[in-house]
Amino acid sequence: MDQQGVFQIGPIRPPSEANSLLLRVTENCPWNKCKFCMLYKKNAFHTRPVADVKKDIDCMAEYRDMILEHRRAEGFDMEAVQKEFYLLPSDEARICYQMVFTWLTEGDSQAIFLQDANTMVLRADWLCEIVGYIKEKIPELKRITSYGRANTLARISDDDYIKLRQAGLDRIHSGYESGSDRVLELICKGATQEEEIIGGQKVKRAGIELSIYFMPGVGGKELSHENAVETAKVINEVDPDFVRLRTFVLRTGSLMEEVRKNGNYTEGTDMEKLLEIRDMLQHIDTNKAHGKITSDHIINLLQEVSGYMDQDMDWMLSYIDSFLALPQQKQKEYQLARRMGFPLDWKQLYLLRESDQEKIKQMARLYDGAEWEALLHRYLDHYI
Ligand code: SF4
Repeated sequence: MDQQGVFQIGPIRPPSEANSLLLRVTENCPWNKCKFCMLYKKNAFHTRPVADVKKDIDCMAEYRDMILEHRRAEGFDMEAVQKEFYLLPSDEARICYQMVFTWLTEGDSQAIFLQDANTMVLRADWLCEIVGYIKEKIPELKRITSYGRANTLARISDDDYIKLRQAGLDRIHSGYESGSDRVLELICKGATQEEEIIGGQKVKRAGIELSIYFMPGVGGKELSHENAVETAKVINEVDPDFVRLRTFVLRTGSLMEEVRKNGNYTEGTDMEKLLEIRDMLQHIDTNKAHGKITSDHIINLLQEVSGYMDQDMDWMLSYIDSFLALPQQKQKEYQLARRMGFPLDWKQLYLLRESDQEKIKQMARLYDGAEWEALLHRYLDHYI
């Protein structure tokens, strides 16, 4: 094995790819200007030579073969796995081996995600070559996915999308964040509503699945309604397979603090952001949009808001309404529990330890107004 048994691993992947094998095709973000994002600010963007990426794929395939040698009918021979693990030449190699082992045993052994932030920026023929090589070396994979920024997606030709689809690219994740041009400009997303629609429609036309991310609240109080309506417009025009909600929280230390300081942004309350989600859902045309909404992140207050837009919209709206109909004290108790990391819905708060329930009740009574929002924010700051 060359490269001392090491392949590159990038810093992030979408939550829905948490169990996928990760292949670093590019490094960092070619845009790197979004004001809310602190991920790659200190790192320059690079494409990786195709030959290097192929070596990484070879290394992953080799680890897979080594690990599968230890599979027995009753499970893995862990003694042999551990012996092999400790014989690897470096800690870096052990991290890579461990990743392949986890992917094979606990993860989604049929999925791979191409890192980092915008792999779609790569020349289509290079990306096709990489995807083709993955198919050759790890043929058991059934899903190959990548991030792509809307501005990039709009610039790729229909022909190239078809080539990428034929090569084996299955799904593109894209952080649209908002459908409003004014909000996109405010956060310096470097994309327009038109590009979101054109790019999204091209992806769909080629038969590639599209998963887009929106941030309710990212326009602040000032642009809350516009953010909801214009985002729904993009969803209606694109008909994505997945809409993933990521409630916006102004992160301490991000460039959004400057936007706020300049008087261009007032962060909405936790409840106002929920109302914005409701507003957006109401503007989705269920005759045009058929994909699935998901709230698959702890940052969302109501993670149960999930379902197919053309089938479950009434249910999602009534679920939000039933929360809004609770007495304010009950709403606050759930808000606080959720922001402290409670993973279930408000009807299950009784599952908390009695002492925790009591503490939450007291805090929900004690705090109010700006102090209450600041308290929630302190918890939320940890999640983003
Ligand atoms: S495109 Fe994505 S990774 Fe790049 S700066 Fe914006 S949010 Fe961050």
